[in-house]
Amino acid sequence: MIIIMLGAPGTGKGTVAGILQEKKGFKQISTGDIFRKNIKEQTELGKIADSYISKGNLVPDDITVELVKSVLDNEDIEKGIILDGFPRTINQAEELDKYLKSKDNKVDLVVNLTTPEKEIIERIVNRRVCSNQECKTVYNLVLNPPKVPDICDKCGSKLIQRDDDNEETVKARFENYTKQTSSLIEYYDKKGILFNAVVSKEINKLGADVARDVIEHIDNMKKR
Ligand code: ADP
Ligand code: ZN
Repeated sequence: MIIIMLGAPGTGKGTVAGILQEKKGFKQISTGDIFRKNIKEQTELGKIADSYISKGNLVPDDITVELVKSVLDNEDIEKGIILDGFPRTINQAEELDKYLKSKDNKVDLVVNLTTPEKEIIERIVNRRVCSNQECKTVYNLVLNPPKVPDICDKCGSKLIQRDDDNEETVKARFENYTKQTSSLIEYYDKKGILFNAVVSKEINKLGADVARDVIEHIDNMKKR
C-alpha cells in the first residue's frame, strides 16, 4: 500500500505519518527529513538542497525525483509506504506514477490535510523536533509539549527548532505551496483516491485524531 501525505507546511503531515508508521507498520519516507539529514552531514545533496530550503523554495524536481526513486528502490513497497512531503509538484506526481507503474504498483490513498491559516503560523512557531535522526518526533510547545522542557519523551534527546521554521521562510513556503503544490489536490481527487481531513484545535482534532480516522479509512478500504 502506498499513501501520500499532502498539505501546506505545518498542517501535521509528519505527525500523522509518524503515527501511521507506528500503528500500521508502514514505512514513513519524508523528503524534508532526508534533505535535513543530508544538510547536517554536509553531503553534496545537502549543500544543493540547503540553497533552496533555506529560502523556503522547493528543491528542483529532477533532484527530488531521483532521490525518491533511489529510496523506493531499496524499500519493500508491499509492506506499505507513506510518502510524507512528496510529491509537491504535478511533474513529481507524474514521475512517481510512471515509476510505480513500472513496478506494477500505484498510489492507493492521498491524505490531504488542511488547517486554518492562523493556527498554522502558531503551530510552526511553536514546533520543536527531536534532534535524534532515528526518532524525529514532533512536539508543539502549546498543544503537545514534551514532559521535560526541550527533551524528547521517547528517546531523551534534545529538541530543536528547524532552521526554516522562521517567519520569513514560512511565508515563502506558503506561497510555493499555493503556486506549485495545491494543484495536486485536484490531480488526486480526479483519480478518486483523496481523503480530506481537517486538523484544527477549533474542532478538537489534532494529528493523533486524524491519524485514527485515516486508519479507520484504510481498514475499511481493505474490507471492500
Ligand atoms: P513542511 O511541509 O513543513 O514545509 P518538509 O519537511 O516537508 O516541511 O519540507 C521542508 C523543505 O524541504 C521544503 O520547504 C522544501 O524546500 C524541501 N522539500 C521537501 N520535500 C520536497 C519535494 N517533494 N520537492 C521539493 N522540495 C521539497
Ligand atoms: Zn526522540
